[in-house]
Amino acid sequence: MLVVMHVSATQADIDRVCDAVSAMGFQPLPMPGAQRTTVGLVGNDGRVDGSNIEAMPGVAEIIYVSSPFKQVSREWRSANTLVAIAPGVVFGGTDVPVIAGPCSVESEAQILASARAVRNAGAVALRGGAFKPRSSPYSFQGLGKHGLELLQLAKRETGLAIVTEAMDDEGAHLVAEYADCIQIGARNMQNYSLLKTVGRLRKPVLLKRGMAATVQELLLSAEYILSEGNDQVILCERGVRTWDPSSRNMFDLNCIPTVQKLSHLPIIADPSHGTGIRDRVTPMARAAVAAGADGIIIEVHPDPNKALSDGAQSLFPDQFADLVRQLRQISEAIGRSISSLPVHA
Ligand code: PEP
Ligand code: MN
Repeated sequence: MLVVMHVSATQADIDRVCDAVSAMGFQPLPMPGAQRTTVGLVGNDGRVDGSNIEAMPGVAEIIYVSSPFKQVSREWRSANTLVAIAPGVVFGGTDVPVIAGPCSVESEAQILASARAVRNAGAVALRGGAFKPRSSPYSFQGLGKHGLELLQLAKRETGLAIVTEAMDDEGAHLVAEYADCIQIGARNMQNYSLLKTVGRLRKPVLLKRGMAATVQELLLSAEYILSEGNDQVILCERGVRTWDPSSRNMFDLNCIPTVQKLSHLPIIADPSHGTGIRDRVTPMARAAVAAGADGIIIEVHPDPNKALSDGAQSLFPDQFADLVRQLRQISEAIGRSISSLPVHA
């Protein structure tokens, strides 16, 4: 439930509404706006009777939030939420930031070469996992803390913002010290204790859709993060499992306008994991930007054939540079623009 206050409501009116919400056993969340304040009610799981509040001085109207995800919904907040992971790298506005880099951080030479290549091609953030969720325990698991230190070095060299994955509560605290944005991977989309942890960390979060998750489940997972007080959440479509083995995943672009209708949070697209095959990444990245994605995340490796993970879906640096050129044209055609970073000193 949302209590919309009159433009002329006084602070005393707002306080009285908050007290009434508390007396009902729920938590009031006052949200001052440009014109008027709205008081959200959290902690309820179902419809609440707001008739006593409706009659209070300064109350303009009561809006009942019908979706199970509340703070994430457009009913709760009608304007897009802007998520800035670094100065000039903003998701949710007209800019379309490009995040790129290897699947995993493998070595100093590899991450620096990746960072320079994607920076020169127009990326504004560097991706790369230091903690890797692998299907097999015998596959490369990532460099851990050393990988984070290498990402920090790459950031210092290039000015790129850092996006990297945390797999557990302990790792999340460590990742938060190095990253500009903490990635929660598909396999952890429903790891509720991890979601609560990143909700309390006050760092932007990139939340990827689980491989068999519905849009509602994705939004409910985001709700866990917002309910801990962190609204800096970027959602990510990365493909879902289907019966068809012809692609690694089925890249669900339908999800982009669907989420944008239901939620104020930005949603970006990951055509690398969405397709799993290098040649399909460029066409689907173009399609994602055309569909209105609020950003794009692409795996790029200086030598994909030698990559320790996801080489088959990683673009060569030249292919990535071509792709960004094409994305600039597409974004312009729909009134948006691919973000660029200022020249790095
Ligand atoms: C990744 O970004 O490399 C990754 C593991 O992605 P996902 O969680 O979407 O599989
Ligand atoms: Mn990967």
